[in-house]
Amino acid sequence: MFSSRIRSLFIRTPTECARVGKVLQEYLDSELDAETASQVLSHLDDCRQCGLEAETYRRIKDSIGRQLQPDAAAIERLRNFADRLIAGEVDPSQFDGDDEV
Ligand SMILES: [Zn+2]
Repeated sequence: MFSSRIRSLFIRTPTECARVGKVLQEYLDSELDAETASQVLSHLDDCRQCGLEAETYRRIKDSIGRQLQPDAAAIERLRNFADRLIAGEVDPSQFDGDDEV
């Protein structure tokens, strides 16, 4: 578990999350250039919201890779999430869950 002291080093804004959201699939497909990929990686390390999203993508890709039916509900959720991200309707601060006990 990362300690919360490093969180302030990164600026998480809906703009930044939307940027990451747009390239996340390419990132997971290893289609990004190294510089962009490392920026995405930094953001995913810091931003729980996008980190969870990356995990969801990975699960879906994994399901497809194994030729299983991907979870339709997860895909639907992902689509909605991406739409809201791009529309700037997601507030990253609501995903700050580090204060759970
Ligand atoms: Zn984010």
